[in-house]
Amino acid sequence: MIEAHSLTKRYGERTAVADLSFTVRPGIVTGFLGPNGAGKSTTMRMLLGLDAPTSGRAVVNGRSYAEHRAPLHEVGAMLEARAIHTGRSAYNHLLALAATTGIPARRVNEVIDLVGLREVAKKRVGGFSLGMGQRLGIASALLGDPATVILDEPVNGLDPEGILWIRNLLKGLAAEGRTVLVSSHLMSEMALTAEHLIVIGRGRLIADTSVAEFTAQA
Ligand code: ADP
Ligand code: ADP
Repeated sequence: MIEAHSLTKRYGERTAVADLSFTVRPGIVTGFLGPNGAGKSTTMRMLLGLDAPTSGRAVVNGRSYAEHRAPLHEVGAMLEARAIHTGRSAYNHLLALAATTGIPARRVNEVIDLVGLREVAKKRVGGFSLGMGQRLGIASALLGDPATVILDEPVNGLDPEGILWIRNLLKGLAAEGRTVLVSSHLMSEMALTAEHLIVIGRGRLIADTSVAEFTAQA
């Protein structure tokens, strides 16, 4: 479970997130919807303890990560997708991450199969396509078998097959009882992926409602 209590983030004069409160429940996919610049990434960074709120509090699985990064076995996250520049193979990249975070090495093989990277696991990550990079990002997020999963715009730039794959993966993670928060600026995508929506604009809460209710209003 994720709780945002009056989260506020200011950068100088600019307020990126303003008095944002919401709860994300386990067992369903919750979409975090808003246009570019609405404050989605900033909010997710605060939930993960990567960025300190100016005021307010983030509580994830009953804990506040304001002072330190949430451990991988508690919260798995993929923030804005960017190329991972490494000469390492996907397998070795994940193995190194497992080693530094105290996750057993056997889990690497499990997540490689889970995200469908088996065939390219021995290939250099530097040569990966965007879609393969997203899969690797998701593999890293799931490495610790976390109860809570936070993904920032995971379908950005993906082809239809990749989008379908992520959609089904997220639904599967939620069906296993995990808490799943996924951001997007696309209502059409969220309508097909999420059951509940938290909608923000200019850092403020616009709606916190089921997808069915939100689409009926729109
Ligand atoms: P979204 O993820 O919804 O696209 P962001 O959280 O990235 O939105 O950005 C929200 C607002 O905060 C934007 O106006 C952005 O320019 C601003 N912002 C984000 N990060 C910083 C930063 N490090 N310094 C200054 N402004 C920032
Ligand atoms: P088992 O049924 O023995 O748990 P699985 O292959 O289903 O075997 O799972 C192996 C490991 O992967 C377990 O730790 C399980 O919790 C984890 N796991 C299964 N599905 C997922 C998933 N979608 N995301 C993350 N971890 C998963």
